[in-house]
Amino acid sequence: MPQYEKIIDLATRKGFWFPSAEIYKGPAGFYDYGPLGAALKRNIIELWRKNFVEADGMLEIDGSPIMPPKVFEASGHLSSFQDPLTECMKCKSIYRADKLIQDVTKKIVPEAMKAEEFDKLIKQNKIYCTKCKGELAKVRMSNLMVKIYFGPKDNELMYFRPETCQSIFVDFQKIYNIMRAKLPIGFAQVGLMCRNEISPRQGLFRMRQATQMEAEVFFNPKNEDKFEKYDKYKKYKVNLALLGKENKIIEITLGDAVKKKIFKSKIEAYYLALLMQFYECLGIKKENMRLREIGPEEKPFYAKSAWDFEILTSLGWTEIVANHYRADHDLKSHSKGSNQDLSVIDGEEKVLPWVWEDSFGVDRTVFAVFDNAYNEESVNKETRIVLKLDKKLAPYDIAVFPLVNKDKIPELSEEVYEMLKCCYACFYDDSGSIGKRYRRMDEIGTPFCITIDYDSLKKKDVTVRDRDTMKQDRVKIKDLCDYLYKQYIK
Ligand SMILES: [Zn+2]
Repeated sequence: MPQYEKIIDLATRKGFWFPSAEIYKGPAGFYDYGPLGAALKRNIIELWRKNFVEADGMLEIDGSPIMPPKVFEASGHLSSFQDPLTECMKCKSIYRADKLIQDVTKKIVPEAMKAEEFDKLIKQNKIYCTKCKGELAKVRMSNLMVKIYFGPKDNELMYFRPETCQSIFVDFQKIYNIMRAKLPIGFAQVGLMCRNEISPRQGLFRMRQATQMEAEVFFNPKNEDKFEKYDKYKKYKVNLALLGKENKIIEITLGDAVKKKIFKSKIEAYYLALLMQFYECLGIKKENMRLREIGPEEKPFYAKSAWDFEILTSLGWTEIVANHYRADHDLKSHSKGSNQDLSVIDGEEKVLPWVWEDSFGVDRTVFAVFDNAYNEESVNKETRIVLKLDKKLAPYDIAVFPLVNKDKIPELSEEVYEMLKCCYACFYDDSGSIGKRYRRMDEIGTPFCITIDYDSLKKKDVTVRDRDTMKQDRVKIKDLCDYLYKQYIK
């Protein structure tokens, strides 16, 4: 089985995630998370909050996912948030033109091209319907915004946000004043977004409804290189895939990259480093990450620069976080759209701040973390599947096993379980052989398994087995909390 299929097989078997409304054969592009996947996703979001948002002193808001048309008229989404669409004239299959051309030619196709340019490429490369070999219709642009009608007469048009950031921009001035913030300041938000994707596919990668974690950093453009936080990261190394040299990843310190003007400013450099460091926290190896420079044809029209943060998965290099230097685009557009001056006071000066954005795909992160943690090992001529998730991310921290279901062993096991449950996510399992119970926990990434046996009754101790090394320690019950605490802070 190819690696990607093995990973999807495990995720499906254990219910980490699966298609939504499966019993009704719901449409593609929507996914549900079962208890294990929901816990993994929650743990990722919590770590982001701690190691990215709070670490940087950002302000987190929670805005409505549904907003009125005026917001998206001002932001430019209603007129220009679109993908090129083509249709098979015979079987009516629908394709996203840029992705279809990319799949056939194996070359990156800029999504910002004109419809006629896509037509040209389709003709040049002799591309037909991949299902029936039928001829493809002329490419037309299709808007990705999802309309929602409210009101008793279904006539109040609203839109589901296609990215979480617009509420940050429209709320910015109010929150800045209420919180007595100072520039530069980051605003963060986690939430749902919806897009009318033409061809949702590849599981958690191109969904019609997804979760985003976004950070918008507001700064005074005059001071973007007076940025002290950067100094601590000068020696931090990032992996870069520069424009036109995508196949050669270079490792470079932030200091050198700024000197060579690879990054536009210290703000850009610092937030890209903070982002990479966050993924290190999630247990992704640094050699499996890179920042890919986005060229003028591929980036949005308002962005002064753009970098895709990519992780190497069983699908190849895949985009996980989009980063844009948005400059004055957002606050300027909303000042104009709302007829209000959205400037704030920075020191003595009145200024309309500029914006740097890191936009994280949460579902993509779940997949990348799961994919990178998947391991197969040969143990006693059998395959052991083990999900080597970072301990902080595992759905369960600990599993408790009574060796047998008699002779006061269950009673003592339950005592241990109750004690640990206060501080850890615990799972109690009393069915099947101990070997089978270990394997079940390995597959879902549980870092520690605790077994209570006959010796435990006499000596008041238990066996603690480590997921990765399979090594077992004998630990006194009274020392168990201490022992586990040390494992987690290491
Ligand atoms: Zn067809």
